[in-house]
Amino acid sequence: MKFADLHLHTQFSDGTFTPEELVLHAQKHGLACIALTDHDTVEGCARTAAACAKVQMEFIAGSELTAEHADTEVHILGYFLDTQNQVLLEKIGHFQTVRQERIREMCAALNKLGIPLKAESVFALANCKSPGRPHVARAMVQEKLIGNLDQAFEKYLKKGRPAWVPKTTMSALESVELIHQAGGLAVMAHPGLNRSDDIIPALVEAGLDGIECFHTKHSTVMSERYLEIAEKHNLLVTGGSDCHGYSKKAPLIGTVKLPYDHVERLKAKVAERKL
Ligand code: AMP
Ligand code: ZN
Ligand code: FE
Ligand code: FE
Repeated sequence: MKFADLHLHTQFSDGTFTPEELVLHAQKHGLACIALTDHDTVEGCARTAAACAKVQMEFIAGSELTAEHADTEVHILGYFLDTQNQVLLEKIGHFQTVRQERIREMCAALNKLGIPLKAESVFALANCKSPGRPHVARAMVQEKLIGNLDQAFEKYLKKGRPAWVPKTTMSALESVELIHQAGGLAVMAHPGLNRSDDIIPALVEAGLDGIECFHTKHSTVMSERYLEIAEKHNLLVTGGSDCHGYSKKAPLIGTVKLPYDHVERLKAKVAERKL
């Protein structure tokens, strides 16, 4: 049996692994295929592809786009993206700028609360174009402004907490369109985490290709529920660990193994679209 992990992050967004480290871990877990899905960027794809090629592992260029629908944040995964697509690069470039601005706003909010974290420290730690809350949390821990990452989120960074800053983003329907025009397949990420099943029909109408049924935070019951939804709407099935490398626990890669026949179906759909 061959397996894939189609949801992985590196240092190009909020993961801790370099592309090369990620591929080493994927090898260790016997994965035949991986997809890189860093938040709002495709920058790490070239290096990850090169590292995969060295060990004959199959690679899928992807990204996890932040989007919204009816005031709820949803993540849309893009797979088999043309990483040189100008419209895609322009759009995500804009969202990277928004993310950088948001880091400044979060630091300003923390400063008002008496926590002296500088945006420059967060940027230095993140060292990527697509920084996010995990970098703020890590910088706070590093500078001993908080005990651990969880506390940083619980006390300050979670939605509704005093240093939470919303992200200006695009609608989920727009993100499906953006992925399609870049030659990719659009997949709704971890639907079980968003509790926004009501948006699935609208996404399907917009041309959604698949749904992430298997995810570290999905229970067996949830996965089964989304497999049924996939069947009902004729959606492809994907899955991944959403590994961010080292946090307090061991890396998640290897905890979700997607049977390879789902990758075959994804590839068939991309090939069909190119005809
Ligand atoms: P952002 O894209 O800046 O809104 O940050 C979202 C990322 O933060 C997610 O992809 C997770 O990796 C991480 N995250 C969200 N909530 C938590 C939490 N409560 N504890 C730790 N990490 C979290
Ligand atoms: Zn993340
Ligand atoms: Fe996500
Ligand atoms: Fe993710």
